[in-house]
Amino acid sequence: MEKIKMTTPLVEMDGDEMTRILWKMIKDELILPFVDLKTEYYDLGLPNRDATGDQVTMDAALANKKYGVSVKCATITPNAQRMDEYKLHEMWKSPNGTIRAVLDGTVFRAPIMIDCIKPVVKSWQKPITIARHAYGDVYKCTEFRIPGPGKAELTFTGEDGSKQTALVYDFECPGVLQGSYNKDSSIKSFARSCFNYALDVKQDLWFGAKDTISKKYDHTFKDIFQEIYDAEYKEKFEAAGITYFYSLIDDIVARVIRSEGGFVWACKNYDGDVMSDMVSTAFGSLAMMTSVLVSPDGKYEYEAAHGTVTRHYYRWLKGEKTSTNPMATIFAWSGALKKRGEMDGLTDLVAFGEALEAASLQTLNEGVMTKDLCSLAEGITPTAVDSEGFIKAIRTRLEAKLGA
Ligand code: NAP
Ligand code: MG
Repeated sequence: MEKIKMTTPLVEMDGDEMTRILWKMIKDELILPFVDLKTEYYDLGLPNRDATGDQVTMDAALANKKYGVSVKCATITPNAQRMDEYKLHEMWKSPNGTIRAVLDGTVFRAPIMIDCIKPVVKSWQKPITIARHAYGDVYKCTEFRIPGPGKAELTFTGEDGSKQTALVYDFECPGVLQGSYNKDSSIKSFARSCFNYALDVKQDLWFGAKDTISKKYDHTFKDIFQEIYDAEYKEKFEAAGITYFYSLIDDIVARVIRSEGGFVWACKNYDGDVMSDMVSTAFGSLAMMTSVLVSPDGKYEYEAAHGTVTRHYYRWLKGEKTSTNPMATIFAWSGALKKRGEMDGLTDLVAFGEALEAASLQTLNEGVMTKDLCSLAEGITPTAVDSEGFIKAIRTRLEAKLGA
């Protein structure tokens, strides 16, 4: 079989620990034998981030902006313990935070569904994608503990010296106080990323906020979404046969549970934080969650939702085989290759990404799976394999599909 050609490089961001090991296995077994892979490689492994003063992360993010599509391995976000472990010069910031800031994007998380793992919610037949606004609100708030009686006021001083002031509460006893904010520009980017993504996957978009209670703050989110929808997306949505639907967040939550899935759920920052954990757990496993960062101007970064699976890595270092699930990382690769193919008009590359996904799903549906999934599978007798065995089983099926 002749290898599939690429025209534009894919931005490849390597990472840390167990996922770095899986990364190489996936490339060697599932990509390189079939694709004449063209990547611009950035090593975001913690040792190289430290050696380059984290410049490599910024370079990778800029390359993502330039070429449009990247695939990223999970990376360590350093903490005090990692400072010691890796003898770091600095406690480098989260690479995902850096990339997100450069692309100004929204993160979309969707579960990979298989026949033998049933969602906890019986009506869910199709995946639910959560789009979380990853800027502002309680994550950038300022808060105090109020020690005792006194007045709490909210003040805004305009650059022109104008003032708006309001009484928040006249405290008669100790309490708590919080000030949070968001920016129209960020809400607009969030809205555009959501509308673009829904069009991409041809799924309805749902958005919920608390505009009845928060008449200025949440209402602004609702209004901005509606204005952008009416001005820029209404016709495109109608042509694609999909809808945009806004409702109160509590109504949306109730509808989500009764739904059969198959839509994109846009969430404000806090709602997305909480709901993505609920939805992913209800669908089965963190190892089966895909994640893609989409910028408002259509740049994509594909990755797994999980981390570097440190506990498995420490066992691997001792020479043990581990049964780490590579599905989400494989889907990061297939997603990125499909998108690259779509942008460059390479139907072979798109078809390859689809075949890789189909072969992976077939492997699981035939009961060959990593240990984390064996305990969740119903109605079949699963065969537990280690990561290498699982990837080899996918390769056999992929070769059959490609006639290789
Ligand atoms: P994690 O790597 O997602 O792992 C948490 C636990 O979930 C694992 O110990 C494992 O459970 C299970 N798990 C996750 N992915 C799995 C897979 N593919 N196959 C099988 N089991 C899987 O989260 P963490 O331990 O909190 O974080 C580890 C490192 O990852 C940290 O340094 C963190 O900064 C980083 N991180 C990076 C990203 C990212 O780059 N996007 C995201 C999150 C965390 P068992 O041990 O019980 O088998
Ligand atoms: Mg969370």
